[in-house]
Amino acid sequence: MHELLPLTEEQREIQALARDFAREHIAPFAADWDERSHFERSVIDRLGELGFLGMLVPEEHDGLGLDTYTYLLALEEIAAADASVAVAMSVHNSLPTQMILRWGSAEQKREYLEPMARGEKLGAFALSEPEAGSDAASLRAQGVRDGDEWVINGTKSWVSSGGHADVYLTMVRTDTPSRRRGARGISAFILTPDLPGFAIGKKEDKMGLRASPTTELVFDNLRVPASRMLGEEGSGFVYAMQSLDHGRLGIAAQAIGIARAALEHATAYAAERKQFGKALRDLQAIQFKLADMALRVAASRALLHATAAAKDRGVRTTQFGAMSKLFASESAMWVTNQAVQIFGGYGYMKEYPVERLFRDAKVTEIYEGTSEIQRIVIARELYSHS
Ligand SMILES: Cc1cc2nc3c(=O)[nH]c(=O)nc-3n(C[C@H](O)[C@H](O)[C@H](O)COP(=O)(O)OP(=O)(O)OC[C@H]3O[C@@H](n4cnc5c(N)ncnc54)[C@H](O)[C@@H]3O)c2cc1C
Repeated sequence: MHELLPLTEEQREIQALARDFAREHIAPFAADWDERSHFERSVIDRLGELGFLGMLVPEEHDGLGLDTYTYLLALEEIAAADASVAVAMSVHNSLPTQMILRWGSAEQKREYLEPMARGEKLGAFALSEPEAGSDAASLRAQGVRDGDEWVINGTKSWVSSGGHADVYLTMVRTDTPSRRRGARGISAFILTPDLPGFAIGKKEDKMGLRASPTTELVFDNLRVPASRMLGEEGSGFVYAMQSLDHGRLGIAAQAIGIARAALEHATAYAAERKQFGKALRDLQAIQFKLADMALRVAASRALLHATAAAKDRGVRTTQFGAMSKLFASESAMWVTNQAVQIFGGYGYMKEYPVERLFRDAKVTEIYEGTSEIQRIVIARELYSHS
């Protein structure tokens, strides 16, 4: 029992379904996928068949119509088995599907949202660029209107699921060089790899999360029908920021899954490994480490779940969401570091899972807003309420 908040019967069932699937179909293969930087699409497809790619989409659009809390319970289970699979699930559910659900036209929902909710199409999110990360509003990819089409040129960086996704929710400038409108000059487009001028660029070689492909997108006179713009022209940045409020909860759940897995491995190892005639678990220094690890996992989870429950009641959770992501990601980094320490030399070896967990934890402090950006959001919200 991990949760402090009560779970409904349905929530318990979905959590158990995710846990059983993750233990059988993901965890045993995670080290090999990491080693080979291999993205296992069949696992994503099976998650789709189980409904896990449409968790937050209403049933009328072929989703499961679940609440945020239930979604995060399932996501933690997947992340505890493999953070790389979890990021594909998190981005898909939190960003492109939510954006099309909130701002898409009826036709866009039929064409993209519904197959995404059924798990037939995988979604990705393309905001970052080589020169625009934390300062995403400075992005440069440029669209120019040409009749019923937009012609787009530019490069997107570090797109998770790049090269494997079917739908890329992409932020592009649609203002003109002579009349720049800052964040209000950015629009969101639903791009697909079949469009002329769309190419997958460099695939990154990463420290962790190696089974999640991270690629560039290169647009060379890409032509997209104007009907693929999402919502209103000039609102894409606002849509992206509002969606990231939600996305951060997914990254917090991912971080908790990683930290929990590290805690479980360290607890089991400390019971087995003997030094000086005693199991490590009987050494107080190790007990204190395990206690502090368990505390941080529990505190991260309590904050995230309370935030999700508030969100499901309709409360605006920008500040608590940033706190959840910040605390869970920094805790995951700390907990995985302790886990490596408890494993000693073995913890540094690829033969044992804590090495991968340590590498995977780091990115949760970076993407969907770095820890510094989360602190900025939290501090800004302190003043916005006064
Ligand atoms: C594995 C991976 C997957 C990713 N997936 C996606 C994806 O699917 N889609 C997507 O759009 N992007 C994705 N990203 C990009 C990610 O969101 C950015 O890396 C992140 O937003 C930070 O931007 P940056 O790397 O350019 O760092 P920078 O913005 O250059 O920041 C560098 C450092 O300066 C700090 N800093 C910057 N501004 C401030 C400030 N105002 N005050 C204090 N400190 C500051 C940062 O916190 C950081 O420590 C991914 C990144 C990685 C590593």
